Amino acid sequence: MISASPPSCVRDGKTRRLPVRCPFCGHPDLKVVDSRDSEVGEAIRRRRECLECGQRFTTYERIETVPFYVIKKDGRREDFDPPKLFGGLKKATEKRDISPERLQAMVAQIESELRRTGRVEIPSADIGEMVMSRLKDLDEVAYIRFASVYRQFMDLQDVRGEIDQVLSSRQREKAPASRPR
Ligand SMILES: [Zn+2]
Repeated sequence: MISASPPSCVRDGKTRRLPVRCPFCGHPDLKVVDSRDSEVGEAIRRRRECLECGQRFTTYERIETVPFYVIKKDGRREDFDPPKLFGGLKKATEKRDISPERLQAMVAQIESELRRTGRVEIPSADIGEMVMSRLKDLDEVAYIRFASVYRQFMDLQDVRGEIDQVLSSRQREKAPASRPR
């Protein structure tokens, strides 16, 4: 049981400690109020409290097992970078009613899902699609924002097309009618 270990054991090299800061005010002084194994794969879930602003939030610390890489569109290979993915999600959900916790959980889920595939090299397009399918269910505005950056829409016409698609799929959900083909 990892969660039962004293904190010093967490630094034994199996776990890479990510620099944790308060997602609300950016302060680095945090108190752990609860710690347990996560139900979402190989992460330790910690409930933390910011000593500066008093906000509570959850962090997921990953146990490094097999390293895996993201293959970019231009063929470059990069380490999978959860904080970078979180940053992209944060930007896409700016001013939407979605908590940082929810986004962190999404990043952790995507990572554990990727790990379960056992693949060592994962095309960035696959990760983008995983994010988009989740955002689509969560928040349409965030989805459009993420998709517009991720898919690099060439012009407003493309954005418009994506919005129409979202709207028409919502219509279909409300009234499942057969559409002319
Ligand atoms: Zn804070």
